[in-house]
Amino acid sequence: MKEHNPVEPETIAAGLGKVRKTRWILWATIAAYLPGLLIALQLALSGSTMTVLFGTWVFLLCVAVGLATIVRCPRCHKTFHTNGPTFLPVRRCVHCGLHVTADRTANAA
Ligand SMILES: [Zn+2]
Repeated sequence: MKEHNPVEPETIAAGLGKVRKTRWILWATIAAYLPGLLIALQLALSGSTMTVLFGTWVFLLCVAVGLATIVRCPRCHKTFHTNGPTFLPVRRCVHCGLHVTADRTANAA
């Protein structure tokens, strides 16, 4: 049984890979809003089509935030971006401070 041994680098790398993926989905969803809106305006879609598209985007945003909320830190096993009711999509674990790219910079240490 391991007690307070440091987590294996492979586990950290795999966990941080998952964290990075959820962050990417979240930012991509947010970033897609403006170009999506401009394209929709260009196409002069009807109000109901716009409503459906906007509803779809809100749904995708909810999924992206949900994924980013539940993703866990590979080091402390707590939620990486969430401390209590507060969702903070920052680049460090809000509990132990593990950086989202710690596995890429750890080789020097
Ligand atoms: Zn942590």
